[in-house]
Amino acid sequence: MSSVISEIPVVDGSVSSLRPPALWTKPAYAGTIEALEVKERELAERLSGIAARFFRARFATSLAAEDMVLTDAILRGSPAVRAGIRVFTLNTGRLHAETLAVLDKVETHYGYTIEQFTPDQEAVENYLKKNGLNAFYDSVDLRKSCCGIRKVEPLNRALSHADAWMTGQRREQAVTRAELPFEETDESRGIPKFNPLADWTEAEVWAYLSRHNVPVNALHEKGYPSIGCEPCTRAVKAGEDVRAGRWWWESKDSKECGLHEQNIKH
Ligand code: SF4
Repeated sequence: MSSVISEIPVVDGSVSSLRPPALWTKPAYAGTIEALEVKERELAERLSGIAARFFRARFATSLAAEDMVLTDAILRGSPAVRAGIRVFTLNTGRLHAETLAVLDKVETHYGYTIEQFTPDQEAVENYLKKNGLNAFYDSVDLRKSCCGIRKVEPLNRALSHADAWMTGQRREQAVTRAELPFEETDESRGIPKFNPLADWTEAEVWAYLSRHNVPVNALHEKGYPSIGCEPCTRAVKAGEDVRAGRWWWESKDSKECGLHEQNIKH
């Protein structure tokens, strides 16, 4: 009787199908330090400009790589920038332990407490009673409804007194972000929304984090370039789109959580 192993394709003398796929790893930066310094100066100018124009600017951090660049640039920025742009996060109740650990890392590294906004418990319980714990896998509508309760409503509360807000989105992250401007209008709130890293590459983000010894989410070392809620995020394979692990069961053009609704062309 032939063994199962003998039927598995063999490459270079090894059993190829038993190897786990290579996962995403941090990209290498091929540019010069001078070019990176230009990017950093531009970023500092953008942040100073926002802090000078607005009294109650807010930065919504997901605690992932891009947002750690902005967190670092704000918290090590001028006193006006550090005091003028408040950093908060949406603690959805479904985050990885590694993501929550970033809150402590920031506290230790910068002496700064990132404010947490949590979902309305009654709304969460009603959703769970009606739909079950992981109903977001069943349809885009149920997924958006979960994001609405756990992310969008807390975001609305976080921004209720803000006169501008800011994100770490980049153009090259997804088809839905290809035309991302530095400044846009958040139509639903009637305030400006800034994307100061819109023109940054993934390699520049990682070069910055390394150069400034910025604390990062441990999941990045496990193949996660982009990180959201635990049940809706997985590691991605080398060469895959960096947001392929977010809501991986949905089509590319619906992959936004409602925080950046204007990215989706209706
Ligand atoms: S990302 Fe997933 S778990 Fe998190 S709020 Fe959206 S649907 Fe719910």
